[in-house]
Amino acid sequence: MTTPITATVLGLPRIGPRRELKKAIESYWAGRMSAADLDSEARRLRTAQVRTLIDAGLDSIPVNTFSYYDQMLDTAVMLGALPSRYTESGQPLDQYFAAARGNDALAPLEMTKWFDTNYHYIVPEIGPDTAFSLHPEKVLAEVAEAREIGAAARPVLIGPVTFLKLAKPVGGESALLARTSELVPLYIDLLQQLADVGVDWVQIDEPSLVTDLDDDELQVVRATYDALARSTSRPAILLATYFGSLGGAASAVAAVDGLAVDLVAGEAPAREALRGKQIVAGVVDGRNIWRNDLDASLATLSSIVEAADTVAVSTSCSLLHVPYSLEGEDGLDDALRSWLAFGAEKTAEVTTLAAALQDSASVSAQFQASRDAIQGRREDPRLQREDVRAQLADVDTSARTRRPAQERRELQAERLNLPPLPTTTIGSYPQTAEIRLARGDLRKGRIDEAEYARRMRAEIDAVIDLQEQLGLDVLVHGEPERNDMVQYFAELLDGFAATTNGWVQSYGTRCVRPPILFGDVARPKPMTVDWIGYAQSRTAKPVKGMLTGPVTILAWSFVRDDQPLATSADQVALAIRAETIDLESGGAAIVQVDEPALRELMPLRKADQPAYLEWAVNAFRLATSGVSDAVQVHTHLCYSEFGEVIESIAALDADVTSLEAARSRMEVLDDLNAIGYDLGVGPGVYDIHSPRVPSVEEIATSLRAALAAVPAERLWVNPDCGLKTRGNAEVAESLRHLVEATRQVRPSS
Ligand code: GLN
Ligand code: ZN
Repeated sequence: MTTPITATVLGLPRIGPRRELKKAIESYWAGRMSAADLDSEARRLRTAQVRTLIDAGLDSIPVNTFSYYDQMLDTAVMLGALPSRYTESGQPLDQYFAAARGNDALAPLEMTKWFDTNYHYIVPEIGPDTAFSLHPEKVLAEVAEAREIGAAARPVLIGPVTFLKLAKPVGGESALLARTSELVPLYIDLLQQLADVGVDWVQIDEPSLVTDLDDDELQVVRATYDALARSTSRPAILLATYFGSLGGAASAVAAVDGLAVDLVAGEAPAREALRGKQIVAGVVDGRNIWRNDLDASLATLSSIVEAADTVAVSTSCSLLHVPYSLEGEDGLDDALRSWLAFGAEKTAEVTTLAAALQDSASVSAQFQASRDAIQGRREDPRLQREDVRAQLADVDTSARTRRPAQERRELQAERLNLPPLPTTTIGSYPQTAEIRLARGDLRKGRIDEAEYARRMRAEIDAVIDLQEQLGLDVLVHGEPERNDMVQYFAELLDGFAATTNGWVQSYGTRCVRPPILFGDVARPKPMTVDWIGYAQSRTAKPVKGMLTGPVTILAWSFVRDDQPLATSADQVALAIRAETIDLESGGAAIVQVDEPALRELMPLRKADQPAYLEWAVNAFRLATSGVSDAVQVHTHLCYSEFGEVIESIAALDADVTSLEAARSRMEVLDDLNAIGYDLGVGPGVYDIHSPRVPSVEEIATSLRAALAAVPAERLWVNPDCGLKTRGNAEVAESLRHLVEATRQVRPSS
């Protein structure tokens, strides 16, 4: 008999409460730590985390959500699906990291965003010669480790449907989903092995089931879960979906024993789907940081209790997407702090709600505190600013429109006088040790603002010199003063708050500290004008003003949940617009407004997408239509399946758009051509997510391919993305190759 679950979470962060894992992995990469020491550090972090959850009162604890890089990559390893080019030589750990981030000889696998989050997963490649085989060592080891310290360990696996839906077909392979039939026996084997070691529940994650699936796909889902459920020796199966509603897919997974459902981003399935099942009700938001409305959650839970067999309280998704704990966040004002819940606090909310289902009197104090916080938040004047609301009420279509692109092009060409195939970079240059040191010194009060500015100007000097030497055409200041392209602006805008230790994994060892958008947004003073003006004073070549767009600022922040995102986006857009106007007054001829997250915020269901794209495009246009037509507006988009948003990219009406393309080749240009796009475009020709230096030949080949699709007058040459995570030497070398390759293919004018 399986034990019912009453309180759990769907998954866990792994970078460590103080980013210990990040630091250990980076030491390993740098050759300063052995594989054995990395392994013991990872074990120490995992067991400490499991102990914390046992103490918090969870009665089922997810394991195998740990990863050295990414859970999709781990699943590829588990299923024997790492492409053979990575497994031909070296230690398994190094093969793994080669697939994740490349090495001297190999480019890494592609990376893309995990559903509508800012977490990036590694995209497995599946081809005709991929022969799946089961490698359960990691999951079995993590189960054993957790059981050793007394945890009711619930291993978490990515399900076969989601794995194949998110994988990339290569080598002429097309219908990947058909290959679930090859995976089912492997999962059955694994389930048996888990049952043999005494595992009670296994969680199989199938977030793909909250996206639109056609009838054939639903057939595959049904066949898969019927087969898994039929296997005789297995743990109980908890099928987990999140980031939306299970909707029509619920009946296709009727054979499983339990369902974990996201009741924050989605709705509960119909009552028939709940009947006789263990329901793990995700009422505590795993994606955002607002304190739970316990009364509302208890009401939701009560409605499910009537229909289901047993009900557990849980987070809506893995806690991977929120920081560890509010503990130590002393920089937040008391009011704001009282409105929030991070990972540890969410775990406590889960156990409070589970207790309330038994005996609500036992937790009445917690409920009262939740009510008080919600009330305080609602009444705070920072959430309703008359000045901001009035300005927004005045916005009409003319505020979102520029003159036709062709007319703008002439004005800009005259002013800029650039060669065909202008070379440029996306904005940031390597964030050197000196930059980080200066930021640390400023924070700790060891240097004053003036000294900090002096050091940043020295960095700008160096970056401008480098670009001059390389012979790039359009320069940037290098963004040394920005810790992060969103956080930087959030710190300068009213309505946002920053955390001290609110780190969240973005990909691999890269972590971000998303700001908290809690109130109405306003710009107290110019944010970038001095830096850009300084950079421009050092060169005769044009320097781009560099800003982050409203959609991206929202996508990489924890956003308000008390007003439509569209309203928040327009508020941010007005602040960015004011900045572009000041940049123009300061002499900028080019302003770049980055929107790398345009695709990421897109709703998962088709029916919800047009409304999103409309407000997203409108917000960008509001941000960029305040400058005169002689100012060239650039934008930058990255890590996306562009196909789905291609019309919207055109609708942004930016004069030049630079795009990630080195990893997903030049497909995007064909997509743009197909819709008659005729503005400037810079498909990335240097993959900056890898330390590898691309050769002149390689870049020239990419450029020739691009020139076959786009006329020289419209083609720009640039890397895939910003260079801040790279090292100085490799960047200089790569850009030298980029400029040289451009010279080789540039038509003489
Ligand atoms: N301008 C930013 C940079 O270069 C853009 C980064 C991004 O697209 N994520 O860092
Ligand atoms: Zn980018």
